[in-house]
Amino acid sequence: MDRFDLLILGSGSTAFAAALKAQELGKTAVMTEERIVGGTCVNRGCLPSKNLIEAARLLHDAQHPRYPGLSSTRPKLDFARLVAQKDEVIHEYRKKKYESLVGDSIRIEKGHVRFLDPHAVEVGGKRIEGEKVLIATGARPVVPPIDGLAELPYLTSDLLTSDEPMELSELPASLLTLGGGYIALELGQMFRRFGSEVTIVERSGEVLSRGYEPEVGPAVRAILEGEGIRVVTHATVRSVRREGFGVVAAVETRKGVEEYRAARLIVAAGRRPNSDQIAIEKAGVSVGRNGQVLVDQYLRTNVPHVFAAGDVIGSETGSQMATPVGSHDGGIAAHNALSDGEPRTADHRVIPRTIFTDPQVAVVGMTEQQAIATGHTCWCNTLPISLVPRAGAIRDTRGIIKMVADAETDEVLGVSIVSVSAGEVIHEAAMALRFRAKLRDFIDLLHVYPTMAEALKIVAISRFKDPAKLSCCAD
Ligand SMILES: Cc1cc2nc3c(=O)[nH]c(=O)nc-3n(C[C@H](O)[C@H](O)[C@H](O)COP(=O)(O)OP(=O)(O)OC[C@H]3O[C@@H](n4cnc5c(N)ncnc54)[C@H](O)[C@@H]3O)c2cc1C
Repeated sequence: MDRFDLLILGSGSTAFAAALKAQELGKTAVMTEERIVGGTCVNRGCLPSKNLIEAARLLHDAQHPRYPGLSSTRPKLDFARLVAQKDEVIHEYRKKKYESLVGDSIRIEKGHVRFLDPHAVEVGGKRIEGEKVLIATGARPVVPPIDGLAELPYLTSDLLTSDEPMELSELPASLLTLGGGYIALELGQMFRRFGSEVTIVERSGEVLSRGYEPEVGPAVRAILEGEGIRVVTHATVRSVRREGFGVVAAVETRKGVEEYRAARLIVAAGRRPNSDQIAIEKAGVSVGRNGQVLVDQYLRTNVPHVFAAGDVIGSETGSQMATPVGSHDGGIAAHNALSDGEPRTADHRVIPRTIFTDPQVAVVGMTEQQAIATGHTCWCNTLPISLVPRAGAIRDTRGIIKMVADAETDEVLGVSIVSVSAGEVIHEAAMALRFRAKLRDFIDLLHVYPTMAEALKIVAISRFKDPAKLSCCAD
């Protein structure tokens, strides 16, 4: 039997942040893991996807130079070698940022973990006890109940994993993606650029229809369709079957049932918290309707010594399933569990997010609809990115920017950007929201010329004058 100050279920970025905080406080911690140490982000999420998405962008740009005077070339694609270099990057990063941190005061126990009682779990045949407990078991792909799906080999967002059998090592000639959320769009565009035929089947009327401004989905969709991706909306996959070496999906659309064929099927219908396979009832911890572990502002569950953070708390209470949120909150949960100091609250008011399509989608704060629903009178405006001098200078005018502000106070409440470098630019908006900046603050800040960040200044100016009639530095 082993007893630790902090018993952590999981070993992802949330768990590691908590274990490091425990170490900093002079306490002992143990993590538990049934797959690969480091969890989703490093092994099969952020890192491998961003590595390969950048390779696909280089390939695409070489074939489609934006500048007259540059001729297109076709670099030879060795997909297996690309996958191998991705694995090397992951191995190195995992060693440096995860495995090397495990030592005397931080341990890892391998195996499937289950609660035995509120202070103890069973993992790898061992009983382990914790004075305090953190649930950080993350989330997994939702697999919808579709006729025939169980009999087919299908891919999920786990397809970029390394050291696991579900890793995809051969480029499929064609792909059918079930779902039009951020993972489907990132991977769909990446595979299209590598040369696969890609079809995205989305149940609602638009991609990115939930939680995003209504202007974002159509802007992204037009760009993806321009690259040859087929996007089918108002479409529900009813059944799937194998045909030869590929799959056929019967899809109900507004035109009736249509059949779509592809070499491989990717199920990208969202992610659900991993709270259902850990005997959570033995700890007495409450979960919500979608499986999210319910926590208060201190990340404490209904059982006072049990905390939860990361993907496993879902996004229903304003959090987001994203690595920086989990790792920030993991540290807070460990502090609240182990420190005698003042408890810290998890602040989910300002969470910048990026979808790594090309161009990127980056958002922070409220959408217009959310602002109105929370009682604000809104001023908001959407502008084409072509108004930004840098966009014109580098011949990449794809995208839009939308700003939402309170019409009475001019406090900026939310920003959505579809543009090149949007994931960098959004940090200025996030900092502004954090300090409750107003439209004038964006206007009065000197911006480097010519940068994409000037988009924020230009859209703020549009509250007062015509942004099409500005001189060079948006003044
Ligand atoms: C394709 C993809 C791309 C992504 N890209 C980004 C991105 O660019 N930026 C970003 O911020 N986020 C991204 N994310 C999301 C990000 O990866 C997650 O939000 C983050 O990894 C969650 O961390 P976590 O520690 O909460 O959970 P995880 O990292 O999932 O860790 C939980 C761990 O617990 C283990 N576990 C679960 N149940 C048990 C059990 N019963 N017994 C033992 N072990 C168990 C799991 O195996 C897992 O390793 C992406 C996700 C995917 C799938």
